[in-house]
Amino acid sequence: MDYFERRVRRILERARVKSGDRLLVAISGGKDSAALVEALSVLRGSIGYKLAAIHIDLGIGEYSRKSREAALKEASRHGIPLIIVDLREVLGVGIPELAKLTKRPPCSVCGLVKRYVLNAAAVEWGASYLVMGHNADDMAAYALKAFMSQDLESLSKLGPVTETVPGLAVGRLRPLYMLSEKETFIYSMLRKASFTMDECPHVNRRQVEIVLKRAVGFIESRMPGFKVQLLGNLARRYTDYPKPKEPLSRCPSCGLISSGGECSFCKLTRRALGEPMGPRMRAYIRQKLHELGLEVAGEN
Ligand code: SF4
Ligand code: ZN
Repeated sequence: MDYFERRVRRILERARVKSGDRLLVAISGGKDSAALVEALSVLRGSIGYKLAAIHIDLGIGEYSRKSREAALKEASRHGIPLIIVDLREVLGVGIPELAKLTKRPPCSVCGLVKRYVLNAAAVEWGASYLVMGHNADDMAAYALKAFMSQDLESLSKLGPVTETVPGLAVGRLRPLYMLSEKETFIYSMLRKASFTMDECPHVNRRQVEIVLKRAVGFIESRMPGFKVQLLGNLARRYTDYPKPKEPLSRCPSCGLISSGGECSFCKLTRRALGEPMGPRMRAYIRQKLHELGLEVAGEN
């Protein structure tokens, strides 16, 4: 447990997290985010940051019900305020319906919605960082995928710490960057964390990231240390890769980050539901922050 927490602390130190900083941690209900919450709760005492959590109820039947229950248990175990964003409550639909309405694969819609909601909540709370539970196996697979397609701009975002664009996007922190899936699982068991092992019914085993993750596991079994070497090198060099070329701009509908014109969330919801839902999502999150007694950035 000391080893695990030392590795998490190292990333927090690298990001210069200090007393009074606000860390918003994304909890999915699975083992990785549960381990992250456990470690961040342990380290909170000595560093003194403020911790809040966010869970997105994706509206995917029994899977979402169990995930939400686990997230609630895990947050309340440590007295961490939890913002629950229920997609059906805000949008009137969950991920399966949004996917049908836009004729896109569920995972592509889901990824886009999650990125938007997590960033919106971090901006509204004025978080110093949005903290994600990606482990070394996830990161190695993402890096290989980006390298395979020579998507160097994505590689520049795959480090343990990414930058904040004030008022538009909050930087990400990945404290489990150098910890494997196995280590994360063992740590969450030792800490008796609450999580669900259920898998989303939409998971696609042939998705390139999932295949690459298995490949990383295979290489690691033949070449122990492969993952740590790959990620250690990437962590040293990711800022050298080219940054996205399009100038960053503000979505005219919701005011958050976009790469030109309306952001992808506003575009997607306009297409599926007839209006851009960014403003409604932001108002919903502000309401949740008020209910939890958390400050809203820009309000006194
Ligand atoms: Fe979302 Fe796809 Fe993951 Fe299910 S498997 S939670 S739809 S990204
Ligand atoms: Zn928008």
